[in-house]
Amino acid sequence: MINQIKSNIWQLCFHSFGSCVYVLKINNKIILIDASSKTAQKELLNDLNKLKINPKKVNVIILTHNHYDHIENIHLFTNAKIYSPENLNESSNIKEIPELKIISAPGHSQESKCYLYKNILFSGDVLFHNGIGRTDLPGSSELQMKKSLKKLQKINYDILCPGHV
Ligand SMILES: [Zn+2]
Repeated sequence: MINQIKSNIWQLCFHSFGSCVYVLKINNKIILIDASSKTAQKELLNDLNKLKINPKKVNVIILTHNHYDHIENIHLFTNAKIYSPENLNESSNIKEIPELKIISAPGHSQESKCYLYKNILFSGDVLFHNGIGRTDLPGSSELQMKKSLKKLQKINYDILCPGHV
């Protein structure tokens, strides 16, 4: 299912299990935030097809964290540069989209990142519309999650784009 968020940003959500995928067309690049799980592969490809996006033309994939339901389809995007969350920090620069602000938000997982683009917060599995991500998984930390949520409270955004809806 495709939801248009802005003229150049789309949210893809799936009936099958798997994270949402966000498609951004910015600076003449096609950028995905997260890639969802294998179970959602068919729906992902269908949605991209509807948006007239060839997977080979995707330039960049930025991951919120490394859980399988967010990363399993990265192999479909053979020409994409992958930005792995464990290699990013708040002063990293994603050169294809330098205006993207990186927010370290450990808690759900050690490497969790949120991304702020203008007034849109891509929150991965840290913050959902009606709750927060699990902190009972290996690599989770309830204490870190509390700190990360406090950090997010101080950020000005109008639109929340979480990893699951
Ligand atoms: Zn997760």
